[in-house]
Amino acid sequence: MMINLYGYTLKQLENYLEHQGFKAFNARQIFQWLYKKHTSDFDRMTNLSKALREHLKQTHHVTSLDLFTAQKSADGTVKFLFALADDHLIEAVLMRHFYGVSLCITTQVGCNIGCSFCASGLKKRIRNLKTAEMVAQVMAAQKKTGEKISHVVLMGTGEPFDNFDNCMDFIDIIKEPHGLEIGARHITVSTSGIVPKIDAFAERQNQVNLAISLHATTDKLRSALMPINDAYPIAELLAGVKRYITSTNRRVTFEYLMLKGLNDSISDADRLSDLLRGINCYVNLIPYNPISEFDYQGSEKKVQTAFHQRLLKRGITATLREEKGADIDAACGQLRAKKTK
Ligand code: SAH
Ligand code: SF4
Repeated sequence: MMINLYGYTLKQLENYLEHQGFKAFNARQIFQWLYKKHTSDFDRMTNLSKALREHLKQTHHVTSLDLFTAQKSADGTVKFLFALADDHLIEAVLMRHFYGVSLCITTQVGCNIGCSFCASGLKKRIRNLKTAEMVAQVMAAQKKTGEKISHVVLMGTGEPFDNFDNCMDFIDIIKEPHGLEIGARHITVSTSGIVPKIDAFAERQNQVNLAISLHATTDKLRSALMPINDAYPIAELLAGVKRYITSTNRRVTFEYLMLKGLNDSISDADRLSDLLRGINCYVNLIPYNPISEFDYQGSEKKVQTAFHQRLLKRGITATLREEKGADIDAACGQLRAKKTK
């Protein structure tokens, strides 16, 4: 079976090449061809020996994803729909910010966590994405737009910590100085709160940003919104987050979806600030993006503002997220890989 070169971390490629009788430094050269010079044609990798090029041709390929559509939003956001080799469809979303270009990538086909407000969870997990399929999203988005991706967020369809090893390899690959060289601090992983994986993530000590989808201040409501809360209730989640902060010295982001009449009262804001007091964190308030299958409604603008102000007044750093790409269903929670539209 042919192996996709995009799936190797530098270390893994070095080990593979040494094992095959080639030199470890060839891995760096290959990374430079793939990720700095954007060359996937082995014949053009002229600093590799003929024997190595022949070996690669026989055993490896460099496959990007099939781009189905690239939809452009009025604000410059682009939603890519890709077909995987087994015909499953996935999406990635490119956003332009004042600080650079970010790409929100998909980590699984479907998602098993089943949050009651999220379109991605409507489809159960079909399979994990391979590392190469995540790298290929970045490569394809860069190729299509001609722009360098400066930031990557693992916030598309899927729960990254339910596909932990592949996501961690993906992060190692895009961070690699001989490759795409995306700074650790420009990479963010978002999780619904799988606590043992937060501990495993902390152990890696890699400076990558961690975002936690909190969305509620009581276990009753959080369990109703996010079934994962039955396994890892709020107190356990926050204890895990505190361990993470102690071990990494990094600030954590809490995402908090604003749902009309459910979690957006002033007493919710007070409970939230009590829960988070003393934790090195900031809160990202997210306007809800309506999904036609669900009855939820987003909080009104003035309620969002009052909530935001209340958090600030009680000493919690918080921002109200500006939404991008809602007109093309590219905003958070709206990804569902529909071909029609
Ligand atoms: N599975 C991970 C990452 C992908 S979801 C997680 O849940 O964190 C990325 C973010 O989008 C999460 O904070 C999620 O709660 C949020 N989200 C899901 N559905 C949404 C919707 N309809 N409107 C706004 N945000 C939504
Ligand atoms: Fe999965 Fe995240 Fe959507 Fe929940 S919010 S269903 S964890 S993708």
